[in-house]
Amino acid sequence: MTFPTQDQIRALQAEFGTPLYVYDQSSLERAAGEVLGFPNAYGLTARYAMKALSTGAIIRVLAQAGLHIDASSGYEAERAIRAGVAPERIQITAQQLPADLKGLVERGVGFNACSLRQLQAFGQIFPGREISVRINPGLGSGHNNRTNVGGPSSSFGIWHEHLDEVLALQREFDLRLTGMHTHIGSGSDPVVWERCARMSLDIAAQLPGVQRLSLGGGFKVARAEGETPTDLQAIGRALLPDFEAFTDAHGRELHLEIEPGTYLVANAGWIVASVIDVVDTGANGYRFIKTDTGMTELLRPNLYGAQHPIEIVPADGDENREISDYLVAGHCCESGDVITPRPGDPEGLLPRELAAPQVGDALVIGGAGAYCSSLAGKNYNSFPEAAEVLISRDGTPRLVRRRQTLDQMLANEVLD
Ligand SMILES: *Cc1c(COP(=O)(O)O)cnc(C)c1O
Repeated sequence: MTFPTQDQIRALQAEFGTPLYVYDQSSLERAAGEVLGFPNAYGLTARYAMKALSTGAIIRVLAQAGLHIDASSGYEAERAIRAGVAPERIQITAQQLPADLKGLVERGVGFNACSLRQLQAFGQIFPGREISVRINPGLGSGHNNRTNVGGPSSSFGIWHEHLDEVLALQREFDLRLTGMHTHIGSGSDPVVWERCARMSLDIAAQLPGVQRLSLGGGFKVARAEGETPTDLQAIGRALLPDFEAFTDAHGRELHLEIEPGTYLVANAGWIVASVIDVVDTGANGYRFIKTDTGMTELLRPNLYGAQHPIEIVPADGDENREISDYLVAGHCCESGDVITPRPGDPEGLLPRELAAPQVGDALVIGGAGAYCSSLAGKNYNSFPEAAEVLISRDGTPRLVRRRQTLDQMLANEVLD
């Protein structure tokens, strides 16, 4: 991953103000190309899990690159439609049934039932229709409890031992159960993916109408040094023999679906912030850089102890600033608003080597495309939602979301 150049950062800071999310169209399109090149035996549909970054302009770039959409709520499906995505290219996989499930499905949106109750609700509205089911295959690979989305401690999907009830509901409502879905969490290891694929294929064997199998998302990226990126080609190739063996055994050629969020956007986004203060807690303490961003734009360090690369961009262009250790603190009055936690430990602190900061310098946070803007501590301390900019292929930045105003923040309040 490359940071935008220091000159670009200073120009963005001056033109759009901070904090600012910056996304790069070329990086998005490159990632889309890699995802669409995922090896497959009998065809591929790749969906963008839009909850990773739900801004319309980003959805549009990825949809135009050829991706379909995975929506995690009815609202997300509506949002994708408003961004110009054809309803037939959207599938809903949601914990909560959309209020207007009927209207969405009538317009062409696909539905992936995530519980027996959801399957029944769909059957009651749409007997005879095509549907997919999300199964919890009993295995998880998330890196911690907060991101584990498979196995007995996860509520996502229909537990794999309840297939009889799935088939009973299918018969009751004469449903065309053509799709099956598993999404078990984050991982970059082809061996884990293959194990998951085998478990999923064993389940698909017991659902005779299934023609397409989605293995979900969860392809990890390396944001910080030392993290392991995913090799999509290696994973895809590892799965090929399993799909072919399934065909030999069951006579069905399964169409493959994958639906990455993180992989498509994580390293195509940055937060450009400004240094607002530099303080210290004495000889045995720490030096802190305070910045005008924090949990209002970036919750991942607080939630997971996530590591994001950070760089100081001196306002005066001085390239010889002394390097030393600093903690970076956000602008919220909240002791947990620290951008430099210990890896995997949101309550720990781990100073970073950074160039000596001065108030007014830019501070750039990398790896900020996925689960940052869409997963923000919005309006905490009454800070407005940050603006967002998309850098087009020719390098021109374009505003794709305005900074929220105080009036917009208060628009729905009722005082008397
Ligand atoms: C969140 C989610 C994804 C994407 O996960 P990433 O880790 O961002 O790739 C895919 N499918 C479903 C059902 C999800 O909920």
